[in-house]
Amino acid sequence: MKTNYDVIVIGSGPGGLAAAIAAKENGADDVLIIERDVELGGILLQCIHNGFGLQLFNEDMPGPTYAQYYIDKVKAHGVETLMDTMVLDISPQREIFAINKDLGYLDLQAKAIVLAMGCRERTRAQIMLPGARPAGVYTAGTAQRFVNVEGHMPGNKFVILGSGDIGMIMARRLTIEGAQVERVLEIMPYLTGLTRNYVQCLLDYGITLQKHRTVNRIIGRDRVEAIEAVTVDEKWQPVPGTKEIIPCDTLLLSVGLIPENELSKKAGVLLDPITNGPYVDDRFMTNVPGIFAAGNVVQVYDLVDWVTEAGSTAGKGAAQFALAEKLETGEEIPLKAGENIRYVVPHKLDKNHLAEEQVRLQMRAITPMEERVLVTVEDQNGEVVTKKGEPYARPGEIITLAIQPKAYEAVQRATSLTVNVRKR
Ligand SMILES: Cc1cc2nc3c(=O)[nH]c(=O)nc-3n(C[C@H](O)[C@H](O)[C@H](O)COP(=O)(O)OP(=O)(O)OC[C@H]3O[C@@H](n4cnc5c(N)ncnc54)[C@H](O)[C@@H]3O)c2cc1C
Repeated sequence: MKTNYDVIVIGSGPGGLAAAIAAKENGADDVLIIERDVELGGILLQCIHNGFGLQLFNEDMPGPTYAQYYIDKVKAHGVETLMDTMVLDISPQREIFAINKDLGYLDLQAKAIVLAMGCRERTRAQIMLPGARPAGVYTAGTAQRFVNVEGHMPGNKFVILGSGDIGMIMARRLTIEGAQVERVLEIMPYLTGLTRNYVQCLLDYGITLQKHRTVNRIIGRDRVEAIEAVTVDEKWQPVPGTKEIIPCDTLLLSVGLIPENELSKKAGVLLDPITNGPYVDDRFMTNVPGIFAAGNVVQVYDLVDWVTEAGSTAGKGAAQFALAEKLETGEEIPLKAGENIRYVVPHKLDKNHLAEEQVRLQMRAITPMEERVLVTVEDQNGEVVTKKGEPYARPGEIITLAIQPKAYEAVQRATSLTVNVRKR
């Protein structure tokens, strides 16, 4: 096989697929996707529920249908794919080392790389869940794979810890398959996933969500027999007199996702401690020239449509870098998190890019605001560059706001831009 490519994309989820397509459409000749799994599509292949494509296609598709649209496009564009191949290492000079059981150890050179490795789930060890260590404790995504792809039911009577989207989606899925979902427990005082998933997966199926409540102890020797639930205060300390033993045979954890950035770090990519993803500019290029990032590797997205959009931007940037062996950059200014904003992606904006097209910002609120809010992008003097009203701001739902080319002049005067969310 060839060893030199214009653009190599690592990961074939929606971020990687979109990046590879955009790289081809923007002039890169030799584009390769490396995927450790045996099929293209990433996490979407196990997401057989609806809810994909509402923003980009105005359609409500299951995950595999959404993925197939881009897989067909990847094939039509002549993108090469290397399946069942694990990338082990990347150098800042864009050399990629990978392993494949037939081809052996591979040493490939790319003019530009797109990191699209997605994210992994937080496990029991990472949230330091006390109690016995019986069988029957799974992350929600693992259970989703068992049920939707491999055809195994991991248990009969479930408690789900965490109100993340995967946990709520699995509460519905398991109920449809005939299991009993006893409770969803959430340590935070608010929902951590999308409200639409709360309505469609819990409320519609009569499944109880208890906030400010967590698993205090797992009970069982060989197999989970019960969990001890407890209410917690603001400091997550157990409130006396609130313990309850809930009999169950399986505990699912939906307690957060971690962007997969071990490879990124090896290549010298700097990570934002808030997102756990790379610092990126508005072309999704990291601090390492020619290394771009897209999808859940950058931040944990709630909607696939934004992953696809970010993948396209990264793929276009990667093609431009590969063709010119650099990216033309103008003056870059930082994008900062202001009032009630936890983070903003991208982290930097090239002032010149607004002359050509809009730049979409994405952020999450720190605390919920259940009244109408105004999201503003302000310069260093507090002058509003762009704004948008929203019915609420919730930490579980990404806020998106595009800076349009008409704000070009205002942005030229800025030395930094700060995003705030305030009561209207
Ligand atoms: C369970 C679940 C349910 C969701 N439900 C919805 C929904 O209803 N609606 C919606 O819009 N969005 C939903 N999302 C969100 C959306 O689907 C994801 O944000 C999106 O799929 C992430 O895409 P990605 O390309 O970044 O990562 P992934 O799809 O995770 O792809 C990453 C790929 O990289 C590969 N990879 C990783 N490391 C390596 C390596 N070292 N070498 C080679 N390959 C590697 C992996 O095998 C994987 O195929 C859901 C997400 C999850 C997890």
